[in-house]
Amino acid sequence: MKTIGLIGGMSWESSAEYYRLINEGMKTRLGAHNNARSLMVTVNFQEIKELQHDGRWDAAGNLMAAAACQLAAGGADFVVLCTNTMHKVAAAIDSAVTIPLLHIADATGAAIQRAGIQRVGLLGTAFTMEQDFYKGRLKEKFGLDVITPNEADRLLVHTIIYDKLCHGQIHESDRKEYQRIIASLQADGAEGVILGCTEIMLLIKSTDVSLPIFDTTQLHCDAAIEMALTSP
Ligand code: GLU
Repeated sequence: MKTIGLIGGMSWESSAEYYRLINEGMKTRLGAHNNARSLMVTVNFQEIKELQHDGRWDAAGNLMAAAACQLAAGGADFVVLCTNTMHKVAAAIDSAVTIPLLHIADATGAAIQRAGIQRVGLLGTAFTMEQDFYKGRLKEKFGLDVITPNEADRLLVHTIIYDKLCHGQIHESDRKEYQRIIASLQADGAEGVILGCTEIMLLIKSTDVSLPIFDTTQLHCDAAIEMALTSP
């Protein structure tokens, strides 16, 4: 079994889910007392959040690269970056280490393709919904048609992520807003919705909505387990 190297802390609320899901998933696959071999480097989210909102992506990329180097030095066989947003600086990780980065958009795109879905809604931070690093990859590598909420709703989705979900605050009123926004994506032709922020799964479950959800936290963990069990 390979050793999974996790870059966590963005936020730790979702990193804890990664830790639980990779270990639960490995036990389901292998049984007995099997769990995943893993390392996690946890960065300080306050620092990262400030760099993101100041547009200092080079500095944020350097911090991700440094974390990946720590994982490689610790014996990790590949890197799992436990956030969608920070994949904006995936290239900084790729150029810092020789071990591979398991890209979250690839795990997600493959699952959507398997489901036979073409037009899909995307919820995430404003960075993820509005910039091209994520939508572009889904379009180019998987041929998906990705749609996002209107401007006011994108701001609401973004604000709930940073002000509530990243603090572990789960409110029914926020769930209702997300349900309303997902319903409007469905009305615009979305056949499924990507929970494209690793904390959204704390708020929205498949039973909360009437179209298929693609939970990036779960899909990324499933892909990590698969990669850990695949040789070489
Ligand atoms: N965990 C979130 C994501 O998946 C947002 C936090 C961050 O900015 O990294 O995008």
